[in-house]
Amino acid sequence: MSPASPSPSPTAASRNADWQQRSRRHVWHPCTQSSRLDAVPPLPIARGEGVWLIDHDGRRYLDATSSWWVNLFGHAHPAINAALKQQVDVLPHVMLAGCTHAPAVELAERLGALTGGVLGHCFYASDGASAVEIALKMSFHAWRNAGRGGKRRFVALRQGYHGETLGALHVTDVAVFRDAYAPLLGDAHLVPSPDARGAQPGEDAAAVAQRAADALGALLAEQHDGIAAVIVEPLVQCAAGMAMHDPEYLRRVRALCDRYGVHLIADEIAVGCGRSGSFFACEQAGIWPDFLCLSKGISGGYLPLALVMTREAIYQGFVDDDVARSFLHSHSYTGNALACRAALATLDLFEREDVLNRNRTRAARILQRLQEGLGVRPVDHLRQRGMITAFDVREPGERFAERFHLAARSEGLLMRPIGGTVYLMPPYAIGDGEIDRLVEGTLATLDAVAAPHAAKEARDVALA
Ligand SMILES: *Cc1c(COP(=O)(O)O)cnc(C)c1O
Repeated sequence: MSPASPSPSPTAASRNADWQQRSRRHVWHPCTQSSRLDAVPPLPIARGEGVWLIDHDGRRYLDATSSWWVNLFGHAHPAINAALKQQVDVLPHVMLAGCTHAPAVELAERLGALTGGVLGHCFYASDGASAVEIALKMSFHAWRNAGRGGKRRFVALRQGYHGETLGALHVTDVAVFRDAYAPLLGDAHLVPSPDARGAQPGEDAAAVAQRAADALGALLAEQHDGIAAVIVEPLVQCAAGMAMHDPEYLRRVRALCDRYGVHLIADEIAVGCGRSGSFFACEQAGIWPDFLCLSKGISGGYLPLALVMTREAIYQGFVDDDVARSFLHSHSYTGNALACRAALATLDLFEREDVLNRNRTRAARILQRLQEGLGVRPVDHLRQRGMITAFDVREPGERFAERFHLAARSEGLLMRPIGGTVYLMPPYAIGDGEIDRLVEGTLATLDAVAAPHAAKEARDVALA
């Protein structure tokens, strides 16, 4: 190493500190308020191993967020590693226009089979937002090909999240992501969320779902001529703070879309691949959408990969000698062979290891330990759908998510609450002992963060 090299010496007191400094100088971190980087420096991760992330100083953190909801079977899983090593020597990538390759073909076949052949055509993309863009464009274009070009608007749910490119953002209703760019965005219709926490006295989750579906029905009755599709996150609006709804909502939306001739787009980017308890969340409602978007977990959390699955009839609407009727959307890395290979290895694990059943046992333990542990702590709406468990802190106070995140680090947990919502979304590889560790650490963090706040409030009241 030359003396002029900016690299830190490995004997430096904290290798973390060096990486943090260098990262801050040159890496623009996503979803990060840069002025808070002093208070919350990025964790420099050196290695991943199962549910654990290990920093450059050797400290271990349980990845309770599955690295932004993408990891399924743990970090550096031997089977996925082996599949990628094999693929990289054979064919890392080739363009998918004018060419094809085994991983892309096999993945489309196997995913189509998982829908009973209903969604038998698969279009590849590279990340969630681009899958949403594709679904929106395909829906509009399908109507245009059918002589219904006036159907050009989309219906989205309140507090929904579909990604942050301009098209995806226009159907997203999360203020922190959206507000600054509102002048650039199209005009989606927003309808009420079926979030079960919105229950009025005497209502259960199914009644909230019906009420929300009635509002959608009223809009479609009036405006369906100008509407191409309704886009929903089935069962859990994750970015809204794990807002969960009754499957009845999806059945009603499907029926309304059929009745009024409107496409249904299911954004299963976060809830797909078993996260909701079934491989596809829509299965729990017994429905299929017209377009289904997958990303995040589909590559096991290894590589950027997304896809949009659709029906035969929609695909056929694009088969024509007129080039303007074809779907010419193109991505340089579409159908990347390595990413598809990681996805095939991920599907193999689902088949070999009875994942969905074993997750039921894991989820039950997470919920039971939390129920026992939360006791009289000031939280509301403890809820669970599959491998997603969440609760809301009653009076989170200023910068709760940041304070919780930092305190969780000292407990050896990687967690990022959303507003006042604390959620546990660990990789499926989590063992019993690790579940207990996760719940104990969550409770200890909650006490460290919420208690001083509660105590301060009590003092303020006493002083007033
Ligand atoms: C994460 C997410 C997206 C966007 O995916 P990116 O890969 O981050 O672009 C879209 N929809 C939902 C429901 C998501 O959770």
